[in-house]
Amino acid sequence: MIDFTDIVLVSKKHNFLRIFKLPKHSFIVTCVILFGIIASTVFLSSYNAREIFVAMSARKSECENESLINRLDSLNNLVALTHRDFDRHIEQDNRERTYWQMVFVHPDVWSMGIGGSDAKAPEKALSDRANGILNQLYESLDVLKGKCELRETSLNDIIQKMESKVYLWSHIPSINPVPGRRLGSGFGYRVDPINKKMIKMHWGLDIGAPRGTDILASADGVVSYTGWNRGYGLCLDIDHGFGFKTRYAHCNCILVKKGDFVKRSQVIATIGDTGRTTCPHLHYEVHVSGVKVDPKPYIDLSNVVVD
Ligand SMILES: [Zn+2]
Repeated sequence: MIDFTDIVLVSKKHNFLRIFKLPKHSFIVTCVILFGIIASTVFLSSYNAREIFVAMSARKSECENESLINRLDSLNNLVALTHRDFDRHIEQDNRERTYWQMVFVHPDVWSMGIGGSDAKAPEKALSDRANGILNQLYESLDVLKGKCELRETSLNDIIQKMESKVYLWSHIPSINPVPGRRLGSGFGYRVDPINKKMIKMHWGLDIGAPRGTDILASADGVVSYTGWNRGYGLCLDIDHGFGFKTRYAHCNCILVKKGDFVKRSQVIATIGDTGRTTCPHLHYEVHVSGVKVDPKPYIDLSNVVVD
């Protein structure tokens, strides 16, 4: 006896009712075939969808990678330009070192040993090309950072040297103590202005001016003597340090006292004719390490070699 399975189709909308009778084994075969068709359709659909998704993702990654490489290239070019710009700082450093009589920083030191820095481990998510550019960037930025630090150190050295020089220069006699007045009898042997039969050494420089004219300190220093000093008359000495001393003789009036710190161009006394002299003038002396030298070169600093 054959088992039948009833398949009932009902449609209320069309007022339809139909009953099919299928042998049971035919029904099972039909169900298996239908299930197979449905399963295959679902599988193929999902596989295609996944393929499409993977292809879209790959395309997106490709675009992103390309964009990233373009930006890395652009960044690399920018860093290279900054390196070229930095060369101007090196030239400036050399100019400053020339001016302040300092040794140049060697070009090998500026180059920071290009090529010696460690490459970073490659990023797996990036292409070889992107990793290559990234490594180049890291190395280039390392060098640039080192150059900036070196320039800063060099600049500090230069400033230190400059300050010490400026301090030294401020203590070197370098101006006419009676500005605008003509330089008279100079350093060296001459006919004595009082005993005209004698040739005597003149240890200073005479600068003529009316009595009461201001006398200025020719450099920073400390007043080391004020008072009457035999033929010098009313006299003032300044100790400038670094072995320099100046003397201002035949003064009419002294406006500072021993121990006072005076600045260059400060009024310290007035012109007079005290001591062994024939008319009002300043007898100006410069002593270097205890030796009296010609003051004339010290009136124009450009004639003085300093180191
Ligand atoms: Zn004199």
